[in-house]
Amino acid sequence: MELLQQKIVNEGKVLSDTVLKVDSFLNHQIDPELMLALGKEYAARFADCGITKILTLESSGIAPATMAGLELKVPVIFARKRKSLTLVDQLYSAKVYSFTKKETNEISVSKDYLSEKDVVLIIDDFLANGQAVLGLLDIVEQADAKLAGVGIVIEKGFQNGGNQFRERGIRVESLAIISSLENGMVRFKEEETVR
Ligand code: 5GP
Repeated sequence: MELLQQKIVNEGKVLSDTVLKVDSFLNHQIDPELMLALGKEYAARFADCGITKILTLESSGIAPATMAGLELKVPVIFARKRKSLTLVDQLYSAKVYSFTKKETNEISVSKDYLSEKDVVLIIDDFLANGQAVLGLLDIVEQADAKLAGVGIVIEKGFQNGGNQFRERGIRVESLAIISSLENGMVRFKEEETVR
């Protein structure tokens, strides 16, 4: 997606060969217009899938997921990383190892909001080794819900998450796929060097 690639080029900071910082529009400050454009793109790509719920992980998945929910006119659930005092319901939970924080969190979703009647679109900000998406897939399976696919904002194609899911037959739609962050440069999958 051209608009997203330009934003990454203009504002992304390459922190290492494996980590890209996009705090100015996705992970700290949020660009609502860009998020709306992402939401429209997911809605177009998954238009005919009969999606009933969008599932994401707090906190950086919430903005793009909400815009996709707005466009598809379905509710958005975010898995919580910490048990809230108000989360007293029965829970689906899964363990997720964080690529950036190097710690394991237990994520949870109330059983009130996800069931076998649902068709779920999982959305997250980044796809690296796939641990976050694996945790969300686990929750979808626990609910016996149907999976429509996975929508990612930025996939790092040089890490194995995306291929691992595609090989399993899971539909993964990433709006930008980075092939390399070596030498401080962002290269997208199309092989073009843009910075
Ligand atoms: P995975 O679970 O696929 O290994 O990593 C995905 C999660 O780690 C995302 O939810 C995101 O929060 C974080 N993450 C992974 N790689 C990056 C990165 O290069 N930059 C940022 N900002 N977050 C990342």
